[in-house]
Amino acid sequence: MKELIILSGKGGTGKTSITSAFASLAKNMVLCDADVDAADLHLILSPDFKLSYDFKGGHEALINPEKCTQCGRCIELCRFDAVKDSFEIDAIACEGCGVCVDLCPEEAIDFPETLCGQWYISDTRLGPMVHARLGIAQENSGKLVALIRQEAKKIAARENLDLILTDGPPGIGCPVIASIGQANAVLIVAEPTVSGFHDMERIAELSKYFNIPAMVCINKYDLNLEQTQKIETYARDNDIAVVGKISFDPAFTEAMIQKKNIFEYNKDSQAATETRQVWDAIVSLPAFNAPVNNILQHL
Ligand code: SF4
Ligand code: SF4
Repeated sequence: MKELIILSGKGGTGKTSITSAFASLAKNMVLCDADVDAADLHLILSPDFKLSYDFKGGHEALINPEKCTQCGRCIELCRFDAVKDSFEIDAIACEGCGVCVDLCPEEAIDFPETLCGQWYISDTRLGPMVHARLGIAQENSGKLVALIRQEAKKIAARENLDLILTDGPPGIGCPVIASIGQANAVLIVAEPTVSGFHDMERIAELSKYFNIPAMVCINKYDLNLEQTQKIETYARDNDIAVVGKISFDPAFTEAMIQKKNIFEYNKDSQAATETRQVWDAIVSLPAFNAPVNNILQHL
């Protein structure tokens, strides 16, 4: 089985629209929405939430007043000023580091796991989907991304599916790194703007560092031909395949409003034709079809 991760430097580049469109073209695939902080693939695919699970990803310190002697050690130790003078812990300020738990002389601090969100296995009209929702202000999104990718992989193995199509998180932080290990290739959806160029550059450098083949698709390329040219030149100089360019087409937005992908909305539109060309270029790329060989593959 192969896995393609679709990434962009920030939200709103068309990454999710393109992922959902690929789902119509790919045969035998499972979808994975790894943008757990702002998941929105479900808005297009209207999944039925078949199975739902809690995601516990951190710990929260809780002082037991029955055991606490109010010695003040935890107040001195906490670097996050989370212990109040009343010997209660501010749940928002507590980073769950566990220092107070380990060093309380009375062993008066409990350290239960906290509920950070939910993850789901759903059916959609285009195939199975694994997705998640991280709670507001919750951390550990990298851990949740790793978990749902693992579940997508299990589904692919169980149902004999050839491909995992992963809508990745934006940026280049921990969730992105968690999303690319063991992937066959990364598709960068780049916009032709100054910030879009730098975003693309950062993801390309990250992929190179981990030895994961990267390719780029320029979305709304006709809005700024000079920046498009700059992206193409950078890609050529850095051995990154430009798998296609998609013009600005309001059909993408109209499709999203109607909870459809571009092929379901208007398969004859220019955007649909160009998206199909991008897909054809990806699946015929030798790097995409080569065995995985990156330094994250054993994590
Ligand atoms: S270190 Fe333990 S005993 Fe001391 S104030 Fe904190 S919770 Fe209470
Ligand atoms: S777990 Fe860490 S952050 Fe939370 S109260 Fe204890 S020392 Fe402070």
